[in-house]
This record gives sequence, C-alpha cells and structure tokens, in this order.
Amino acid sequence: MSAKLIDGKAMAAEIRSEVRRDVERLKAEGREVTLAVILVGDDPASAVYVRNKKKACEDAGIRSLSYELPAATEEVKLLELVEELNGRADVDGILVQLPLPAHIDEKKILWAIAPEKDVDGFHPVNVGLLSIGEPGVVSCTPAGVMELLKRSGVEIAGKEAVVVGRSNIVGKPMANLLLAANATVTVAHSKTADLGEVCRRADIIVAAVGRPRMITADFVKEGAAVIDVGINRDADTGKLCGDVDFESVSEKCGYITPVPGGVGPMTIAMLMRNCCDLAIKRK
Ligand code: NDP
Repeated sequence: MSAKLIDGKAMAAEIRSEVRRDVERLKAEGREVTLAVILVGDDPASAVYVRNKKKACEDAGIRSLSYELPAATEEVKLLELVEELNGRADVDGILVQLPLPAHIDEKKILWAIAPEKDVDGFHPVNVGLLSIGEPGVVSCTPAGVMELLKRSGVEIAGKEAVVVGRSNIVGKPMANLLLAANATVTVAHSKTADLGEVCRRADIIVAAVGRPRMITADFVKEGAAVIDVGINRDADTGKLCGDVDFESVSEKCGYITPVPGGVGPMTIAMLMRNCCDLAIKRK
C-alpha cells in the first residue's frame, strides 16, 4: 500500500478525550452535560448503535438518559416525550435513533426537536444554517469526515472534491462543509452519467453510497484523498467493507480511510462533541 492510512480510531479517541476535558471543566462549574437517547422498538442494529452511544457518553463523562419505548408506541406519545425533553433545563441534547417504526412519521419527530438540542443536526434550522455558512449543529458523520481531513493535513481550499451520494444525513451536508472550506465541489449520485470521469477529477473523494467496493482504482486520480463512509457487508465473507475497493485504491491514492476504523468511530466522537458544544452554548 502506498497511501497514507487515516486512522479514524485514533483520531476519534483524541476527540473524545478533548470532549472529556471540556465536560469535566463544565462539571467543575457545576454544570452536568446530558444527552437524552430515545429508542423505539427492538431493531437489533439500532439497539447496538444506542448501546455504543450510551457507552461513549459514559466514557466522556456525559450523563445519558435512556428512553426505550415499545414498537407500538403512538406517534403522539413520542412527540409528547420530545416536547417534555425540549422543555427540560437539564437536557442538552436529544437523539432519536433511526429508523422509527413505519407508523411514525420520522420527519415529524425530528422536526419537533428544538434546534438548540438537535445533537444530530437533522433539524431544518440546522441544515439551513449550514447551507448559509452560519454556525449551527452539523450532522455527525460529515463533521467527522472534515475532522479526519483536517487532522491528516489534507489541503481542502482550492481543491476539487467529489462527494458520491446525496443523502440528507451524509452527502448533502458533506458537500456544504467542503464548500465552506473552499473546495470546488461536485455531488454525484445514482443518475450521474459517467461517475468514473467525475471521480477522476477529484483531489478529494468522499464515498457515501452503500454499495460494497464500488469505487475502484480506475475511478481515482493518483495521490487523491479517499474517504470511505460506506458500511456494507460483503456478500461472500459476511465481513464489513466500505464503498471503496481498499486493496486497489490504496495503491494509487495519497490518503485513505479503512472500514472499519475510519469514518465510523468519528461519527460517535462527533456526537459527543456536538452534545458538549450544545451544553456550552446553552450555559
Ligand atoms: P442513502 O441510501 O441515503 O444514500 C445513498 C446515496 O448513494 C444516494 O444519494 C444515491 O443516489 C447514491 N447512489 C446509489 N447508487 C449509486 C451509484 N451506483 N452511483 C452513484 N451514486 C449512487 O445512504 P446514506 O447516505 O445514509 O449512507 C451511505 C453509506 O454510508 C451507507 O453504506 C451507510 O451505511 C453508511 N453510513 C455510515 C456512517 C458512518 O458512521 N460511517 C453513517 C451514515 C451512513 P440517489 O440519490 O440518486 O438515489
């Protein structure tokens, strides 16, 4: 492998210890940082995510309040809970684990969270603030990608960046963050006519698609920084893999993130960062 490996696990540990320091400082001033975590139903993957998030809170010294509700919970009950948490002075962040059961309107719930407690940065107010370049809460995964790039010393200003994927939680905020950092940004998606041609222009590629190893070496310019957001299961081995074909791409690019151990750990670290920042802002 000729590329420099970006170690997301180590950078996430660094961020988590920075957060821990800030949380301790707040505590010394008599102010505890609190995250409310809501899980509806018994989806096993969601249960694992929630467990990891609560564990990360514990490590950072953040108090977590856990609300585990049955799958049959009515939408109105969930809205009441969000409203109650919005009004509580001791709650800094509110996280609703997705996906919600089909009978609940996800949008209605996410939009009910007070923007100043929206730790995931999904509320339209925060999305809007990001798009006009004003400070707000930024979605954790793209925020984590920016930290990976910056802490690795990857130059962004003036560079060509291609984001593959345009979801509201990864692709779009990612493109806005790169734009704010003065990259020239292209957003590619499933209707992009010639993805290879678009990607080969890029100094920075962020792949957020959800298709195992679709970005191969022939998509990548020599020396580019390649950030792999994808989390997929390999159909043959059952092992985790990204959207980037690590083996071939790492021989050609300049920087690369592994899966696992790249963007994944950064997402939870940035969740802790966001929660602590919300507490600092409300103080
Ligand atoms: P979505 O399914 O919401 O979006 C996928 C995007 O990829 C869409 O914009 C889609 O285009 C585009 N796409 C699909 N097929 C192609 C193709 N052949 N060529 C180009 N673009 C294509 O996914 P998410 O954004 O939520 O997640 C993307 C990946 O990142 C997943 O693997 C997910 O598991 C992972 N993820 C990882 C996180 C982490 O912490 N590391 C956090 C969040 C997600 P179109 O809009 O046209 O349909």
